[in-house]
Amino acid sequence: MEHYRELEEKSKNIRKEILKMTHRAKSGHPGGSLSAVELLVSLYFKKMKYDPRNPFLDKRDRLIISKGHATPAVYSVLSEAGFFAREELETFRKLGSRLQGHVYRGVPGVELSTGSLGQGLSVAVGMALAARLKGELHRVYCLLGDGEIQEGNVWEAAMSAGHRKLSKLCAIVDYNKVQENGFVNDIKKLEPLKKKWESFGWRVHEINGHKFKDIISALDKFDMELDKPTCIIANTVKGKGVSFMEYQHSWHGKAPDDEQFEKAIQEIEGKVKKTR
Ligand SMILES: [Mg+2]
Repeated sequence: MEHYRELEEKSKNIRKEILKMTHRAKSGHPGGSLSAVELLVSLYFKKMKYDPRNPFLDKRDRLIISKGHATPAVYSVLSEAGFFAREELETFRKLGSRLQGHVYRGVPGVELSTGSLGQGLSVAVGMALAARLKGELHRVYCLLGDGEIQEGNVWEAAMSAGHRKLSKLCAIVDYNKVQENGFVNDIKKLEPLKKKWESFGWRVHEINGHKFKDIISALDKFDMELDKPTCIIANTVKGKGVSFMEYQHSWHGKAPDDEQFEKAIQEIEGKVKKTR
């Protein structure tokens, strides 16, 4: 359990960093960044093999951030993992900075520039297939948004991965139930989501995407998988940790003002009770 406490502490710091980055830049995507914190922390600080001093090391595990607007979470995790200095986060979305609003391959630790949604899984499938052809043993992960998987392109990739039994490929759906303009269920529902992935030939684990025990257990099962690609459906909360952001689509792409920022930080630090 000691280990989770360390991951929880990291998550808290990353949530604060997400708020600082968006507040400072006066723009950005806090909602879908806050929902993905524990998923990213588990991958970078528990599961993935990588060397921050050698970001393109051949045998590294790959992670494609298909929900490319989650930069506040991704960049704060990458800096925590040692890919670049924490001070650089202060340049987020500033003119001339390499840390812009969507994930960019010019940043150490980023595999693919994304932001135009629905494309990441296709690239992840190609990477997993290439690894198999070359006899390489690394794993390929792909983080997807729930609104994003309404796009047909995702299912074409899912069909290919199932057909080819890409057992070293793991798609993780950040199922926070909310997309840019409202609830996923109102815009285009995904259910029965588990059955959909299974019918495309995937092994599916449905979990609580904020519980390290659940996340790490699902990732451990993926490590043992020999027959099928894995999909982890991670039930999460958009805006997790900040009362007035949780489940609110209005916080998909909006920065907190000074007062909201102070309140949000206090809630993350546990200094005030979350009210809503
Ligand atoms: Mg969403």
